[in-house]
Amino acid sequence: MSLQLEHYPADEEHIKRQKAVARELRDTQWWKNLRGRGVCYYCKERFAAKSLTMDHVIPLSRGGFSTKGNIVACCKECNNQKKYLLPVEWEDYLQGRLGQDPKEQP
Ligand SMILES: [Zn+2]
Repeated sequence: MSLQLEHYPADEEHIKRQKAVARELRDTQWWKNLRGRGVCYYCKERFAAKSLTMDHVIPLSRGGFSTKGNIVACCKECNNQKKYLLPVEWEDYLQGRLGQDPKEQP
């Protein structure tokens, strides 16, 4: 399976189908285990399992798929940031959360 963004922008049919797949994955033991680890994939901080949400690393709207390799558990804050930031701004956000030099954070 290719994770390239060649299908951008994804058509509605793709998104609809992949959302249905994601809904099914939500009921699997795989997802429960992933979420049960209680760690946000992006900021690596610890959270209560139920406060973690399902996120597609490559968004469905950019041609991402609902596969185990593309789905992660992340905290609400990261989820929101990811939604509202441009991809390049999102990179900066991650750098800030994970960066080695806390002085550069606002
Ligand atoms: Zn997070």
